[in-house]
Amino acid sequence: MKLEELIPHKGLPVYMTQSIIWFRQDLRMNDNPALVAACEQGDVIPVYIDDDTVSDIGQPGGASKWWLHHALEDLSESLDNKLIVRRGNPKDVLEEVAAEYDATHIFWNRMYEPWARERDASIKAYFKEQNITVKSFNGSLLWEPMQVLKKDETPYKVFTPYYRNGCLNQPEPRFPLARANVTLHKSLPDNAKNDIAALALLPTIPWDESISKQWTVSEKAAGSKLHWFIDNAVNKYADDRNLPSVRGTSQLSPYLHFGQISPNQAWYAIHDAFQGNVSGRGVDTYLSELGWREFSYYLLYHFDDFQTQNFNRKFDKFEWRKSPSDLKAWQKGKTGIPIVDAGMRELWQTGYMHNRVRMIVGSFLVKNLLIDWRDGERWFWDCLVDADSASNSAGWQWVAGTGADASPYFRVFNPVLQGEKFDKEGEYVKKYCPELSKMPKKYIHQPWAAPSDVLSQANITLGKEYPEPLVDLKASRLRALDAFNDIKGG
Ligand SMILES: Cc1cc2nc3c(=O)[nH]c(=O)nc-3n(C[C@H](O)[C@H](O)[C@H](O)COP(=O)(O)OP(=O)(O)OC[C@H]3O[C@@H](n4cnc5c(N)ncnc54)[C@H](O)[C@@H]3O)c2cc1C
Repeated sequence: MKLEELIPHKGLPVYMTQSIIWFRQDLRMNDNPALVAACEQGDVIPVYIDDDTVSDIGQPGGASKWWLHHALEDLSESLDNKLIVRRGNPKDVLEEVAAEYDATHIFWNRMYEPWARERDASIKAYFKEQNITVKSFNGSLLWEPMQVLKKDETPYKVFTPYYRNGCLNQPEPRFPLARANVTLHKSLPDNAKNDIAALALLPTIPWDESISKQWTVSEKAAGSKLHWFIDNAVNKYADDRNLPSVRGTSQLSPYLHFGQISPNQAWYAIHDAFQGNVSGRGVDTYLSELGWREFSYYLLYHFDDFQTQNFNRKFDKFEWRKSPSDLKAWQKGKTGIPIVDAGMRELWQTGYMHNRVRMIVGSFLVKNLLIDWRDGERWFWDCLVDADSASNSAGWQWVAGTGADASPYFRVFNPVLQGEKFDKEGEYVKKYCPELSKMPKKYIHQPWAAPSDVLSQANITLGKEYPEPLVDLKASRLRALDAFNDIKGG
């Protein structure tokens, strides 16, 4: 055999291949199946592409862009500043990079958003024709959606059977992989920092200052959060997870969304810490919340328009109220309902909102104000650092009662009772609505009910220091029940 026959690609011997790893929502070095596969193949060409072909539905919101910027910086540091960062159509960018660096393989971890699946399938087919091998991996779910079906081969629509019968009866999730041992392609420029800056992901006005104080955006910080949670909070999780003034949850959601930690790492760290005995209440509840994340991806995968359409199509005929001023008051945390306002301000200031409060503010928007859940979904999408197509739409559809296994339409959270139950001392409200800091506990969740001398001692004039309630809670609840009753019948 002649030497040239051994050289399929511009002068390289067959045993030396160069592989592109296309990073997407897996911005980590540890437990990264696509990266490990690329490393096993030979030299690695790491690429991140800001896909400008995606429609609004998949374009990151403001807070996510801020996170993405820092996550890319962190990843590129681990890659000696040699991450190739470009904006454009991923097929074209991958083709350019493959030609520039003689790549013979492209590896990525799978995404499950319908638009991403369609895009990836066509890219895979295209490169197959070019004799470039494309391989994809599961890097972000414990169980992939196509793996878990009912006996009749149809998808589950209810969480508990999905998780307990479907997922937990599958083979154990993949064990986390060791950190990839990367040999970078010799000719890569070390220009990632500049190229990340060129994506202009950071805001042009400094609204991100308080968000920056809240988060350290790195793979290492994700690991520290997980270990802090295991050491300090998981045992009490079943109760403390409902208390917004307590640090009782893991706050891993943005790291999981951007893939700075995998659910497998969290799953097995917990199993290890409890030596496999995960039946304790806190631990079991925590693992099942990871299960809710899986279920959200499952719904998005099996029901293509889950992000934008009512899962329960009966709601298609529902006439949502259009009230830009009420929507604005909700967005700005100026509804006059303290726990709702505290939540919306937490969101704005930190890029995050406690799960219990997400449910309360969501119920208030959709039920008390009768505003379309999609308006809430879009605001969260823009403001959350953990904004996630699957979990956000599933959360909103759950709250609205339009989703799979959703909160029933007649469940209207009473924000006063919710506040009194889960923020007994009013600490959470006072933190984010400091103008209420002198309100006594008895009225902190309903200042409108306070006698005038109590209000004046607390330095509050309703409508001045703190808003009058936007709606009467009782009347708006009845209005919602009436309106949703029509759906029930039809
Ligand atoms: C209206 C609404 C919108 C939401 N939007 C998002 C979103 O855009 N992105 C997002 O990650 N989560 C979303 N959630 C789910 C949940 O509020 C967050 O995942 C959770 O508050 C994140 O905090 P944590 O990491 O401390 O959670 P923990 O309580 O520590 O839970 C651990 C992990 O489990 C997953 N998880 C927990 N609860 C849920 C849930 N109900 N649904 C899906 N996954 C869950 C998350 O990945 C979370 O990081 C939403 C919930 C509601 C009600």
